[in-house]
Amino acid sequence: MTARTIDGTAVARRVREDVARGVAELVADGGTAPGLATVLVGDDPASEVYVRNKRRLSTEAGMVDHHRHLPADVGQAEAEALLDELAADPAVSGILLQLPTPKHLDSDALVARIPAEKDVDGLSTLNAGLLAQGRPGLRPCTPAGVMRLLDEYEVELAGAEAVVVGRSALVGRPVAQLLLARNATVTTCHSRTRDLAEVCRRADVLVVAAGIPRLVGADAVKPGATVVDVGIHRGEDGLHGDVDFAAVAEVAGLLTPVPGGVGPMTIAMLLANTLTAARAQQGRGT
Ligand code: ADP
Repeated sequence: MTARTIDGTAVARRVREDVARGVAELVADGGTAPGLATVLVGDDPASEVYVRNKRRLSTEAGMVDHHRHLPADVGQAEAEALLDELAADPAVSGILLQLPTPKHLDSDALVARIPAEKDVDGLSTLNAGLLAQGRPGLRPCTPAGVMRLLDEYEVELAGAEAVVVGRSALVGRPVAQLLLARNATVTTCHSRTRDLAEVCRRADVLVVAAGIPRLVGADAVKPGATVVDVGIHRGEDGLHGDVDFAAVAEVAGLLTPVPGGVGPMTIAMLLANTLTAARAQQGRGT
């Protein structure tokens, strides 16, 4: 193996410690501790685990837990009313609607009830629009986590060839926009890209978020490139990503593992967003 491994677990821990310090400073300065409202609809076991971790780590950082759990058969109007109540509650700094919601609900309409300044997932149309225009706003957590990892490892972005595999609203699109904002030359690949490996081989920085196990192999990586794998898949042989780690590690210069790469960053950046939101709401924005 020639690639250096990016330690997302360690970076995420540092981010959470920074957030905890920021929360303590806000309170010491006469402010109010940030409040995070996680909203879970139904009983999907994976979503329950995610929400439990978000609640645990937010309280460990000194935040106040405003979790709400709605039954799987809740009506659209009732779910919207709950989000409106949280939107109006000054103790709630951030609202996170855990996705996916049950199929009978219109999740876009639910997300639309979350005011932009409390949209700590960064997925509202307004925050997505601000990002697209290169203006400040709350950024989606996983893409923000990718950028933080690149910065922690001092990966040169200005002028770099960056290739993003995937164009989802959750990951691919915002990652491409964040890289563009940092002056990378960005190419976005998707399911209709003609020769994926050929395009990926151009990349100094390759971010893969396609949701397909081991889509990217060594033939798609330029020697010495930085490769960030956002995928996560549970196979019989454990967890792996969208990148064939063992093969790509022989070619890349810097590489995220799965698990322990991007995964832990998502909640860390959620906490960072919640602190940012609380500060702004309390007139202490930076
Ligand atoms: P995520 O949540 O990780 O962003 P999604 O499943 O929502 O993943 O989106 C998958 C994205 O990956 C889509 O934008 C799709 O176009 C892209 N994609 C799927 N298959 C391929 C492929 N074979 N090559 C390149 N991109 C792909």
